[in-house]
Amino acid sequence: MTERLFWKDAYAREFDAAVVAVRGNALVLDATLFFPEGGGQAGDTGTIGGVKVVDTRKEGDGVLHLVADASSFSVGQTVHGVIDWERRYKIMRLHTAAHVGFFALREFDAGCTASSGRVDDEKERSDYTFMKELTPEALAAAEARTNEIISRNLGVRIWFEESEGAETNPWTRAPGSGFPAGLRRKWQIDGFEAMDCGGTHVRNTSEIGVVRMSKGKNPGGGKKRIEIRLADP
Ligand SMILES: [Zn+2]
Repeated sequence: MTERLFWKDAYAREFDAAVVAVRGNALVLDATLFFPEGGGQAGDTGTIGGVKVVDTRKEGDGVLHLVADASSFSVGQTVHGVIDWERRYKIMRLHTAAHVGFFALREFDAGCTASSGRVDDEKERSDYTFMKELTPEALAAAEARTNEIISRNLGVRIWFEESEGAETNPWTRAPGSGFPAGLRRKWQIDGFEAMDCGGTHVRNTSEIGVVRMSKGKNPGGGKKRIEIRLADP
């Protein structure tokens, strides 16, 4: 079990932890700030003990840090980890922007649903099923609405709560999610409904800045791929 320090403070960049396993080029620590790939959010990169971390993934309740060279590490050793903050912060901004974009698109089409979300430091993309036709004008209006909501400097709250439905929460039931049993992680932007998410978010929408919303390549199945990028990355 790896303690998820990024859930306590999404803004922390450095930490100390103990090595609990070394497997090939992967390190497992007793605690980490490195977000493991999951829920569509890319895994963090950075350094551990000065060695480059190229990706981070889940394994059971642990977090696997894939390093360039694990030969200098041993079990029980205390190491210092530093995440690539510039990259992670872009991911946090884009991830939060995707939530705002969903609210804006739902105002356009109350029956729309989003799936297959994926966010890294370049862009966020989600595949939407719309009941209405998404014309270029409607997409431009949704982009303007997303930026209007973002510009209101709305606070973003995060908390864990007990819930009978926790076992149906995709974050909780996912193998190796690291979620405490019976809890779901909620987030809420001021004035909008609370939703479940295990990713990392900014504290205030003002941190996102202006975004661009565009149609991506056709994902098939009658869906429309919507991509969000930072206008000023
Ligand atoms: Zn989220």
